[in-house]
This record gives sequence, C-alpha cells and structure tokens, in this order.
Amino acid sequence: MSFTAHLEYLFHITCSECKFYWTYASMAKNFDIEKRDFHCPNCGQKNRIKLEDEINV
Ligand SMILES: [Zn+2]
Repeated sequence: MSFTAHLEYLFHITCSECKFYWTYASMAKNFDIEKRDFHCPNCGQKNRIKLEDEINV
C-alpha cells in the first residue's frame, strides 16, 4: 500500500500596512484569491490581494 496525498494551494500573503505575513490555503486549483477582500490578522487592515508571479525555484 502506498501513502496518499492531496494537492493544496497555499497562498503566502503579506499585509501592505504592517508587513505581517500569513497564509491562506485552498484545495481548488481555480480558486481566485483576487476576487474577495481579506483582513490582516495582525492590524485588521482590509484589502484586496494582488497575486504576483510564481517564484521559480
Ligand atoms: Zn497588517
């Protein structure tokens, strides 16, 4: 028996006000993180998210 795995999409978010960093996870490949507002868990700032290009590793 092999182990099993599910692919999760994990967004790395940085607050533009206080530079606090947190993550948001989704199991849906087509999840559009730019479609809704988010609140910074640290300072409470409410804002949209601009998704940047993927980092090539
Ligand atoms: Zn903040």
